[in-house]
Amino acid sequence: MTPTTPDDTPFARIAELTQQLEATTKRLKKRALLAAFLRSLRRDEVAPAVHLVIGRIFAESDARALNVGWATLKKALDGTKQATLVPRSLTILDVSRAFAQIAEAHGADSTKARRRLLESLLGRASQDERDVLLKNVFGEMRIGVNEGVMLEGIADATGIDPDAVRTAHMFLGDLGRVAEIALFEGADALRSRGLRLLAPMKPMLAEMAEDLDEVLAEHGGETAIEYKLDGARIQIHREGDAVRVFSRRLSDVTSSLPEIVAIARSLPASEFLLEGEVVATDHEGKPLPFQDLMRRFRRVHGIEASKEEIPLKLYLFDLLYVDGRSLIDTPYRLRWEALERLVPPELLTARRVVQRKEDIESFLQEALAAGHEGLMAKQLDSAYSVGKRGKKWFKIKPADHLDLAIVAAEWGSGRREGWLSNYWLAVRDEKTGEFQMIGKTFKGLTDAEFETMTERMRSLATSEERWGFHVRPEVVVEVAHNEIQRSPHYSSGFALRFARIVRIRDDKGPEDVDTYARLKQLYAKQFERKGRGPDEL
Ligand code: AMP
Repeated sequence: MTPTTPDDTPFARIAELTQQLEATTKRLKKRALLAAFLRSLRRDEVAPAVHLVIGRIFAESDARALNVGWATLKKALDGTKQATLVPRSLTILDVSRAFAQIAEAHGADSTKARRRLLESLLGRASQDERDVLLKNVFGEMRIGVNEGVMLEGIADATGIDPDAVRTAHMFLGDLGRVAEIALFEGADALRSRGLRLLAPMKPMLAEMAEDLDEVLAEHGGETAIEYKLDGARIQIHREGDAVRVFSRRLSDVTSSLPEIVAIARSLPASEFLLEGEVVATDHEGKPLPFQDLMRRFRRVHGIEASKEEIPLKLYLFDLLYVDGRSLIDTPYRLRWEALERLVPPELLTARRVVQRKEDIESFLQEALAAGHEGLMAKQLDSAYSVGKRGKKWFKIKPADHLDLAIVAAEWGSGRREGWLSNYWLAVRDEKTGEFQMIGKTFKGLTDAEFETMTERMRSLATSEERWGFHVRPEVVVEVAHNEIQRSPHYSSGFALRFARIVRIRDDKGPEDVDTYARLKQLYAKQFERKGRGPDEL
């Protein structure tokens, strides 16, 4: 590795900072620590340091990965123990270069090469430094500085408005670069890093709709609904002959998707940024499972063969730049019109503008029948908010149902005063026979049902609390929900989003309650779509 120059910041500074960050829960303190640290760095150290502190190693837009599995790490650790290495001081740049070398190791002996590199890196580290390195390797720094705190630290270090830092991050997709520009080029330079062709930006995101009334109310009585396609989101940039395609996670996937590049070249404009969804299909054009699409995304070799094997279909739904003009702040309604002018109708996502709930429902049924996931509802006057999740875009999916046991009931307030009407819902852990809570709801029952349920809860009570009763888990209810989330609040580790009781299942007993295993399975299925695959590429 390179010799240390007097100016190089030792890696020990990151280990020390990590401990200081861990020692405080105060956000302001963390921000101040980060700001002071950032200001102490040389320009070429900033980006690597930022990545190491947030536990990323590489920028989000960087497709490289360490590819170090548990076995390799274990061997490297054992090797380190045996070796009598004299600890030499490690700098931030040493660590960043070593990680780059590990990621770039390829060929037949790459596993061994990675292990050796890792061994030599760990061998040079002190115990504290080693802790930080290991956390980085596993991508789980969890030292209380997520990206949000780091953004604020950068703002504090430079005096630049946190919102400006955040926006720049959406366009650059690399917090390290953001920090470097903020510290060494200033606010104006950061601001000028807006939308640029051939450089990816973070996509606008949607919130889950609670119900269709909410959608229409939020969107002012009128909304555009589009099929929610079950594929992978891409952004297609063209500048003259150059075409680049990026995934939702901002990786460059151009070379895996030649047919998308060909489509981009065929369109009658020389500069644009389009957004859409690619779906893998069979030879009849029917959507294929998501895994098949992932295989296409991952392919780097044998693209021609996989083009034959897994054809792709492109559905476009947004246009953000055309012929020298950014449309980011242009209302969605006009962006769609510009999109219609640019691309042939068969490339457009199926869409309707509606004012009535019934029209959303019938379009939803149509989308599901055609094998899609649901609908997106988009507010017609909304600008494109880069990288943000909000109510301008809603996702509408059919609710999933689970049969759950009521394990406790709370007294209601307001209109529900005097009724045991807020129910604790639980799945059955098939291994232990215990019930594990996954949420509460007071939604879905009529007044008459609350009345009888109050009596039933009293009769099943096992203990009384200030707020109500714990009860024997005998009443089974069918519960609709829109999403399963990870949650520290309940013993199961999961929570249901927008849970509501669809009906009381008197035909079912506690042994019919959905199991913990099924809950986990449903979550994994959902997670497969959301967090994995092209989204992570
Ligand atoms: P989710 O991943 O559940 O948060 O849903 C948002 C994702 O749905 C987006 O990132 C897109 O990949 C995908 N999607 C499918 N169809 C559309 C559409 N018509 N408009 C926007 N996003 C869509």
